[in-house]
Amino acid sequence: MIRSFSSREFINTFLNGTKKGKALDESIVKAANEVIDSIRVRGEEALKEYVEKFDGVVPEEWEVTSKEREEAWNQVPESLILSLKKAADNIKGFHSKQLQQSRMMEVSSDIMTGQLFRPLKSVGIYVPGGTACYPSTVLMNAIPAVLAGVEEVVMVTPARNAVQIAPILSVAADIAGVHKILKIGGIQAIAALAYGTEKINAVHKIVGPGNAYVAAAKSIVYGDVGIDMIAGPSEVVIIADDSANPCFIAADLIAQAEHDTNARTFLFSISENIIQETRLELEKQCAVLPRREIAEKSLKLQSAAVKVATIDEAFYLSNQLAPEHLEIQLDHPLEYLGKVQNAGSVFLGHHTPEALGDYFAGPNHVLPTNNTARFSSGLSVDDFVKKTTYIYYSKQALEKAAPHVMNLAESEQLDGHARAVGIRMKQHTERGM
Ligand code: NAD
Repeated sequence: MIRSFSSREFINTFLNGTKKGKALDESIVKAANEVIDSIRVRGEEALKEYVEKFDGVVPEEWEVTSKEREEAWNQVPESLILSLKKAADNIKGFHSKQLQQSRMMEVSSDIMTGQLFRPLKSVGIYVPGGTACYPSTVLMNAIPAVLAGVEEVVMVTPARNAVQIAPILSVAADIAGVHKILKIGGIQAIAALAYGTEKINAVHKIVGPGNAYVAAAKSIVYGDVGIDMIAGPSEVVIIADDSANPCFIAADLIAQAEHDTNARTFLFSISENIIQETRLELEKQCAVLPRREIAEKSLKLQSAAVKVATIDEAFYLSNQLAPEHLEIQLDHPLEYLGKVQNAGSVFLGHHTPEALGDYFAGPNHVLPTNNTARFSSGLSVDDFVKKTTYIYYSKQALEKAAPHVMNLAESEQLDGHARAVGIRMKQHTERGM
């Protein structure tokens, strides 16, 4: 089920296929452009048409009412509410450490530079709702936004049977502090958030994962609004030696593979024995998995086991791939952290399954995929904050800086820039200032 590759074969097969543009399907981008253009021009009328076309029925109102939000609490078991609250506490605890204060740097007594940190005014959070229900996504996306101080956090998710959203999503939204929930999904939700309609206010940034239609729509509206990233299929790399337990490795590979048939799962090991035993475990564990069909297809088509000569070779491959998730199933895992150059999130040791991070531990589960961890990071409070710089120079400070600024401006043949400084110097001299 999981195929064996040499390092070279692995690079040729999996790395050369992760370059720019591969994430988005052209026909999907074309379809998304059509929907977005219509909603941009015709507003509510077009929005209703597309909700009906893609999600069946148009709800009476887009927004979940406060009564519906209240009632949702009675429809979710107490124990689940407790788990959500505990996860939310951990996520809040981790992300609150990311908050930064505006800061002033006094360069000298007459020069000041600084940075103002200001929250975005409004953000949209996409919570997928097509084939499954993800309360963890509500928490992971909304909590950093609320902590950053965003004034209006609007969550969108397609309504099941078009009249109601899953009660647990509504409860998670309350726990996270979401201000508004709209029963809209897919491309049409991204268009409505980006451009607004007669009934929906446009937001300044849209975050959150979704299917290929949602990803294409986000890529199209980017520039008119901010986005977090274009999410590709989920990935995990597991680096393991003989100290690892094949049952655990197989379970973690399956946890990734059950996401969807394009999910990618890789095992790099110095031990042929571990690879063989993991293969047997995969068969056993898949046989009793409710999402067996999806997991088996993903494992067959999108996974690889690579027998490496050294642990360093395993880290080399992992850094080349820049996986969304990296599990280090080695003894003394902290000793290997220094070898990680590119990865969205790292799970250390034999008792830290990725699932712990997906739901509970605190770090965000919205992470860079498709080789983009080479240059980008997971969702954080920073995604919801703008940083405005400022500068103050006194007259004397400007006089000292003037020759340098004018030299540099003239070297770029931007005389207007040089004069903006020169004119002040002239007035200082003429007025004896
Ligand atoms: P979704 O909400 O992303 O998409 C459902 C919507 O897609 C529908 O409401 C519909 O409007 C639209 N749609 C469906 N078929 C269409 C078509 N032919 N043309 C136009 N629009 C169409 O939900 P989903 O489909 O279940 O996908 C969720 C995705 O999000 C999965 O790939 C899952 O793995 C991913 N996910 C990722 C994370 C993460 O953090 N990385 C978390 C949760 C989910």
